[in-house]
Amino acid sequence: MSNAELLDRRNRAIPRGVANATNLYAARAGNAEIWDEDGNRFVDFAGGIAVLNVGHRHPKVLDAVNRQLGAYTHTAFQVMAYEPYVRLAERLNALAPIDGDAKTILFTTGAEATENAVKIARAATGRPGIIAFAGGFHGRTLLSSALTGKVSPYKKGLGPFPAEIYHLPLPSETTGVTLDETLRALNFLFAADIEPERIGAFIIEPVQGEGGFHMPDPELFKALDELRKRHGILLIADEVQTGFARTGKMFGIEHASVKPDLICVAKSLGGGFPISGVIGRTDVMDAIEPGGLGGTYGGPPVACAAANAVLDIIEDEKLIERANVIGERLRARISGFAARNDLVRISGLRGPGAMVAFDITDNEGNPDGAEAKRVCARAVKQGLIVLSCGQSGQTIRILVPLTASYAVIDEGLDALERALRPESA
Ligand code: PMP
Repeated sequence: MSNAELLDRRNRAIPRGVANATNLYAARAGNAEIWDEDGNRFVDFAGGIAVLNVGHRHPKVLDAVNRQLGAYTHTAFQVMAYEPYVRLAERLNALAPIDGDAKTILFTTGAEATENAVKIARAATGRPGIIAFAGGFHGRTLLSSALTGKVSPYKKGLGPFPAEIYHLPLPSETTGVTLDETLRALNFLFAADIEPERIGAFIIEPVQGEGGFHMPDPELFKALDELRKRHGILLIADEVQTGFARTGKMFGIEHASVKPDLICVAKSLGGGFPISGVIGRTDVMDAIEPGGLGGTYGGPPVACAAANAVLDIIEDEKLIERANVIGERLRARISGFAARNDLVRISGLRGPGAMVAFDITDNEGNPDGAEAKRVCARAVKQGLIVLSCGQSGQTIRILVPLTASYAVIDEGLDALERALRPESA
């Protein structure tokens, strides 16, 4: 069936609320390449939105999954537990940058991870207040939408939201907000809305993902650590997009000077299978009584098997080191694009490791989301899948599998270069 026929069926059968970045329909995929129903081949710089750090259908993931399929596919962990879940929890506890002993609970989606981190933080502190950051993305369920710091399209007309959730501006070179401005906003919040003794946690992405790949001012983490000590507030790192080697560290928060109390993980942990989790300090994680956490599919066996293989692959293929090498390669080439005058204007090349992004601007240097959208559409015509993000969609972000060959990465960059040529040229 062709892309066009499927698009027609999709439009009649599926609501527009779930937006599509392309009008392509997948036929098959391997590592950093994907083919559509019309037989076209694409280099994949989207990785299923940061899910495929080990690429599409890594042979070790498929092998682990196939073995698991031959044993059992579902028991519900709460009914009959299983070893792959226990092993994955043990491994995440050992890997995570948590002070002291850690425990892990598994779920299926990123939104479940952030929701449950909030529940755990509230239970552990006995406090309702949560402070998140403007531009942050933490999911689309009702509580996680409340945590998400962007009104349109994530919140508009969808409230009321759960109470006691507040947002601060994110201090970063690329948001243009200073740490002083953020701390001033916090003082206003403490004066006008809620006392620090009723705040249970801060939740922050170590590098803001959907919001535009903004790296927070490193001093922010010091300030949060200080506030945490002074007021007994917990720190939740949302690593759903930054996790598992993407930033050139296993966890993005390792770039900062603090160790969080709770860490949300999902996406690339599962290598293409739905799994998420919350890793945290043992005393915090044990705050909720038996039955208060869980879910029918939480930590599904097939996805646990895939995730255990993903952790092996990251180590065996040295993907943390490779993320840095890939990042250098991307940045070298893209800074060349920024210096050209025959391409659309780009600026703000940024991001740690292979979590690389840049902005499309107009001739006056203002963010140009409409042009970024056209760049992504032209990229498809050039054989590349690449996504935008950011406040007005002006940011082009690269989430290429860390297992991609340099030849395929360069092919993707060649296609990106062609896509950056303005339409009139
Ligand atoms: N947190 C972050 C940082 C994310 O990037 C996302 C997804 N883009 C989520 C949470 C939500 O994950 P999911 O879509 O799996 O619910």
